[in-house]
Amino acid sequence: MTVANLLEFDREALAVYCEQLGEKRFRATQLFRWIHQKGASDFDQMSDLARALRDKLAGRARIAAMAVVSEQASSDGTIKWLFDVGGGNAVETVFIPEDDRGTLCVSSQAGCAVGCRFCSTGHQGFSRNLTTGEIVAQLWFAEHHLRKRLNLPEGTRAITNVVMMGMGEPLQNYAALVPALRVMLDDHGYGLSRRRVTVSTSGVVPMIDRLRDDCPVALAVSLHAPNDALRDDLVPLNRKYPLADLMAACRRYLDKAPRDFITFEYCMLDGVNDSDAQAHELLALVRGDGHGGADVSCKFNLIPFNPFPASGLTCSSKDRVASFARVLQDGGLVTTVRKTRGQDIDAACGQLAGEVQDRTSAKQRMARAPVHLHRSGSEAVEAMRAGRSVASESGS
Ligand code: SF4
Repeated sequence: MTVANLLEFDREALAVYCEQLGEKRFRATQLFRWIHQKGASDFDQMSDLARALRDKLAGRARIAAMAVVSEQASSDGTIKWLFDVGGGNAVETVFIPEDDRGTLCVSSQAGCAVGCRFCSTGHQGFSRNLTTGEIVAQLWFAEHHLRKRLNLPEGTRAITNVVMMGMGEPLQNYAALVPALRVMLDDHGYGLSRRRVTVSTSGVVPMIDRLRDDCPVALAVSLHAPNDALRDDLVPLNRKYPLADLMAACRRYLDKAPRDFITFEYCMLDGVNDSDAQAHELLALVRGDGHGGADVSCKFNLIPFNPFPASGLTCSSKDRVASFARVLQDGGLVTTVRKTRGQDIDAACGQLAGEVQDRTSAKQRMARAPVHLHRSGSEAVEAMRAGRSVASESGS
């Protein structure tokens, strides 16, 4: 008999599973709360479920996260876990605490098939899609582990925001992604608002349209170039879905998006995509000049590239980044320069891949597996303890 991992199910799928066991559908809501709100992994803990049901579940189901290969904590409070997903593969999950939020950067695939030039995951190639349960397990583990570790008061949430920016292109694993998003959004699960869950894509145009209809959450697009010639080279998926198509998909997405803007991520590459002329080209692009459309309401996030040897690329100077940002700002676009977090543990999010210095070595790190823990970020932890109430959901 196959033992089902209940982390694979959104609430509707869990209701179907309960029916298959001869139970009423509402049992799924009870079960779902125990799993996701209380972090239970043992059916015996589920005191309001009938003993007969608990016994039935104990023989047929489990609640199991992936094994932690390593855990590293930065002096700034950032924590990175490496999870074993079998077959010699590992994926990374990164927790980034800030004063008013705790963000979890979640992976969707082991490796990635898109092959962006500036991304070490892209250089690593594609191994496999994660299942819904493997995507959800990253949040389940991190939320309940952090609540205990940080000794958070009852009703306080450790993770307030999720960004699907870890390893992989989430929209190339759509079937597993959408149920996972539903678990994150479900009021009986993590209860995150759509504004606080972000899917980041390199531009899988048909799936942007599907996401808009199926589960519209905040959208970030890895842009990285202002024209097709350069983007074809940096983000090979552009050859299939060129910028005009991508901008049109962004405009369609905005009709149903929970935020009234798209975030464009732009990795700053020295001498490649960082001139003032290219910033002006970007302005024209998002205004629709020559692309057969109107403005795309957007914000820009400029990411200082964190070089890795195989890329052959280096990061733009601080002055260049500032000058590039100024052109965009003068053109009326909200533009931020990303702060680098977790530098001492080499941690950041994969979709913003330049920041992740060394994901190519995940397998090697698995081989030298001991769990190691550096200092905890006491300031950030204090800020979290100061109260991040589950009830205080108001968008970021
Ligand atoms: S940036 Fe994202 S889409 Fe591109 S190769 Fe890296 S993980 Fe894949």
